[in-house]
Amino acid sequence: MNYYSTNRQAPEASLEEAVVKGLASDKGLFMPYTIKPLPQSFYDNIENLIFQEIAYQVADAFFGEDVPADTLKQIVYDTLSFDVPLVPVSKDIYSLELFHGPTLAFKDVGGRFMARLLGYFIRKEGKKQVNVLVATSGDTGSAVANGFLGVEGIHVYVLYPKGKVSEIQEKQFTTLGRNITALEVEGTFDDCQALVKSAFMDEELNQHLLLTSANSINVARFLPQAFYYFYAYAQWKKLHTDNRSLVFCVPSGNFGNITAGLFGKRMGLPAARFIAANNRNDIFFQYLRTGIYAPRPSVATIANAMDVGAPSNFARVLDLYGNSHAAICSDISGATYTDEQIADTMRQVWKEHQYLLDPHGACGYRAQQEGLQPGESGIFLETAHPAKFKDTVEGIIGSPVQIPEKLQAFMQGEKQSVPMSKQFADFKQYLLTKA
Ligand SMILES: *Cc1c(COP(=O)(O)O)cnc(C)c1O
Repeated sequence: MNYYSTNRQAPEASLEEAVVKGLASDKGLFMPYTIKPLPQSFYDNIENLIFQEIAYQVADAFFGEDVPADTLKQIVYDTLSFDVPLVPVSKDIYSLELFHGPTLAFKDVGGRFMARLLGYFIRKEGKKQVNVLVATSGDTGSAVANGFLGVEGIHVYVLYPKGKVSEIQEKQFTTLGRNITALEVEGTFDDCQALVKSAFMDEELNQHLLLTSANSINVARFLPQAFYYFYAYAQWKKLHTDNRSLVFCVPSGNFGNITAGLFGKRMGLPAARFIAANNRNDIFFQYLRTGIYAPRPSVATIANAMDVGAPSNFARVLDLYGNSHAAICSDISGATYTDEQIADTMRQVWKEHQYLLDPHGACGYRAQQEGLQPGESGIFLETAHPAKFKDTVEGIIGSPVQIPEKLQAFMQGEKQSVPMSKQFADFKQYLLTKA
């Protein structure tokens, strides 16, 4: 299947081109030409299938024309080496726990899938080594680094701002070694991102090295996020024999996660509607209210992975709904919460239901609690494990948070990183020595 650009000024791309390039040449986002509905028989029987089987059916609809069935199956099964359980929290509200993967955040699904798909294309084409550059303020670097760890033919460079990520986050990408190199940049996250962007535009570098990015706009990171919406439905269906309608609520920043769910709805997933939960960075909420998309600089909140001032996947939402504000509003409603409201929600749910939310999931829970109508049942996406935000969460609930074994194992590793200035000339020189 081919991919077009949301800006419609770039040539069509094959799956392989879209994955290797990330962004279209006109700076638009790649969209698949068709979104194939899945047959009724699939939905009738979905509750009897395991996660990997469901995911493979969904993957086949997107990638089946471009990747041989046995390879695609292997990629899907390897990617989903962990469960995504649906856990009841309160009356009619369920948590879809997306934090049981290696780095305890939902980005593991896309990161692991993309690493394997890119690895397949490299082997197939006999390409020389591909270098993945990724700038991170925390969660992305760990999911991408762990996803690509040990994948032959790919080297990952994670650029992160010195002293600005938590120790837990830092350990998740500086202790891996092998094909992962962490660069500790004397600067901010924006400086890291600027270094990556300059590298992609530098002709000399691109002559010597094959460079690509693993950010969330890449179709190979974005589309696999649809998998768990179907699996959530399968688990929910087992519990519901009445005619309730299902509402998904997604804590959103760059809007990749929710857009994958909207693709699922287009494939026939019986979701009545979606709620996009924002923190104070409420650009999408304001768009729903006014019809005007007005990006603005982000502000820092305790749900920091959602601190986004210009959601990159907004272009995909618009494209999916033919630029119709009315059509978007009929499928998606919004919510926005301050840090105080997020903290109150975490305390309330901990006290009343003994369920520990992370600050991102708390936005999702609260939007369900406030937004569910009679006859509806809600699933919110719990996007990260609360222990990833240990200090914040402990400060709010006033009791210690257990660190899962997986996180503890990272803490025991030894940090290895390459110090880097924020000058592009230094970064370029460094990369050239790797050519
Ligand atoms: C990345 C992230 C989000 C936001 O997801 P988008 O796809 O960018 O909307 C929410 N919660 C957590 C924990 C994240 O890491």
